[in-house]
Amino acid sequence: MKGGRHGESTRTPPAGLQASATATAYARRMGEFDLITRYFKRPAVRSPLGVGDDCALLAPAPGMQLAVSCDMLVEGRHFLSTVDPARLGHKALAVNLSDLAACGAKPLAFTLALALPGVDEPWLEGFSRGLFALADAHGCEVVGGDTTRGPLNICITVFGEVPAGAALLRSGARAGDDIWVSGTLGDARLALEAFRGTVALPAEAFESARARMEQPTPRVALGLALRGIASSAVDVSDGLIGDLGHILASSGVGATLDADAATALIAVEAPSLSTEILRTCALSGGDDYELVFTAAPSARDAVTQAGAGSATRVTRIGRIEAAAGLRIVDAAGAPVSQRFGSFDHFV
Ligand code: ADP
Ligand code: MG
Repeated sequence: MKGGRHGESTRTPPAGLQASATATAYARRMGEFDLITRYFKRPAVRSPLGVGDDCALLAPAPGMQLAVSCDMLVEGRHFLSTVDPARLGHKALAVNLSDLAACGAKPLAFTLALALPGVDEPWLEGFSRGLFALADAHGCEVVGGDTTRGPLNICITVFGEVPAGAALLRSGARAGDDIWVSGTLGDARLALEAFRGTVALPAEAFESARARMEQPTPRVALGLALRGIASSAVDVSDGLIGDLGHILASSGVGATLDADAATALIAVEAPSLSTEILRTCALSGGDDYELVFTAAPSARDAVTQAGAGSATRVTRIGRIEAAAGLRIVDAAGAPVSQRFGSFDHFV
């Protein structure tokens, strides 16, 4: 980082913290640059210049556009302080890769800005292991970042490439298009509610829902396969209804959504829960990191093949219409009267 606010070196803990165990360990064990070198500096392979200089250099292939996205994870808001650090490392990158997937972009590189309360080596080892396992699986290399002392906060900026003009946008949905969603919905919210104690899940169901919440799967391969097929796409981070709403607003269209088809996509077995709770989790749960996308009915076979080719389940859950607004119906086509919210940090 640039010099500290009071000019203190980040190698020595600030005066007020000298007595604390964490600060003493911090001074004894390692400073900012040792920490970066040990846990986050890796040779850049695809980028001309990675970690270690003032800037990284990226070289997208000729004819490609850079797709850039940034997501921040804040302790207590986006993750529980008890989460396994390897899972947190995975999730911090996964939520960013999910944005690239939603644009049909191929991951290239990322930067990592970290605020850490102190140097906790077991935590750093786990976090970097989870982070780089996912990075390596997607050929996405770290090229820079920033490290500072502060409340635990993780901010990743990801860079991808997409042929000029081929990015999947929120604005391309047309009346008559089908609405599709990838994978499963609602499990992450079920896990969160189980943590909060508002629902009870059998132990096995809780563990698999918790894995979905803590280690989402970014649908990168599906996003790439949908280029030229999907008319619009968005990833589901704040809940299906809210994120589909972004497509409707950007495209100037409305839709009818089949609540039962969406609710059937909950993966965990939770037979004791009411339809109302299950619908809430599936339709407005959030943290799913699936893709919701639209495509013309003539593209149904192509969408099915894109799903099969990327080993990703794809399910049709509704239809885009010219009339503005979102109409939520059950499997029989009857309106669902239940009200659904969408996640918003400020309301
Ligand atoms: P500057 O002062 O020029 O911003 P820094 O001293 O903060 O640079 O960082 C030194 C180098 O280490 C830079 O190349 C930066 O991108 C990289 N870096 C810093 N923190 C991290 C991190 N958490 N992960 C990866 N690279 C990092
Ligand atoms: Mg510099």
